Amino acid sequence: MRRQRGPAIDSVLMMVLDGLVLVRILALSRPGEMSRAHAEAVADGGLADIISETGDRLTAPGNFRGHRDRKTRSEALNAMATCLALGAHQPGGITWAGHHWCVAAHGNCPHRSNQTA
Ligand SMILES: [Zn+2]
Repeated sequence: MRRQRGPAIDSVLMMVLDGLVLVRILALSRPGEMSRAHAEAVADGGLADIISETGDRLTAPGNFRGHRDRKTRSEALNAMATCLALGAHQPGGITWAGHHWCVAAHGNCPHRSNQTA
């Protein structure tokens, strides 16, 4: 995964988030799951709002120290993972915090195996 400039996130959290995104990408391949996830994201304010809000919470130093905060962190990670998985299905995929997810070949993809000619 090629690193790019962007929000800083704890490396362990990023590893967890990356795994969650891959699970969500697989889940979105089930019939009806893509439209359900889109509807849920729209109901929660839309993908951009969720990504900016949860991204801010995930990257703010000192967040999520107590037991209750850990539940909030889990909810934020799951919301972010769903949004990034939805973004991965868009043309060109999605890049956040220096990480890139995509499900189809496209130009300028940081993952060489996905690059088109
Ligand atoms: Zn890509």
